[in-house]
Amino acid sequence: MKTPTCANCHNQWSWKMTWKKIFTFKQAITCPFCGEKQYITKSARQKLTLLPIVIPFMNVPFLPFGVSGFYLAMMYVVCLVGIAIGMPALYELSNEEESLW
Ligand SMILES: [Zn+2]
Repeated sequence: MKTPTCANCHNQWSWKMTWKKIFTFKQAITCPFCGEKQYITKSARQKLTLLPIVIPFMNVPFLPFGVSGFYLAMMYVVCLVGIAIGMPALYELSNEEESLW
């Protein structure tokens, strides 16, 4: 799986480390290799923000078929787990902090 690369020292961050860093929800993430502060790029942040908004709509095509709420809830959980696993792959790092939008 693709994982982010430090924009300063170009070392690749491991999936596990990136994942842990994401959930500290800090603006600046310190690179474990060079100790420099790294920021999430604007485009990566937009992708990460959009994901939770998109998930509920993934259930919509199944609604006319009378799929039970239980299965919809299960699908929702599967999607969330998939996103949690895929999140580090969406991460892109920058040396500069970009404005939010
Ligand atoms: Zn680095």
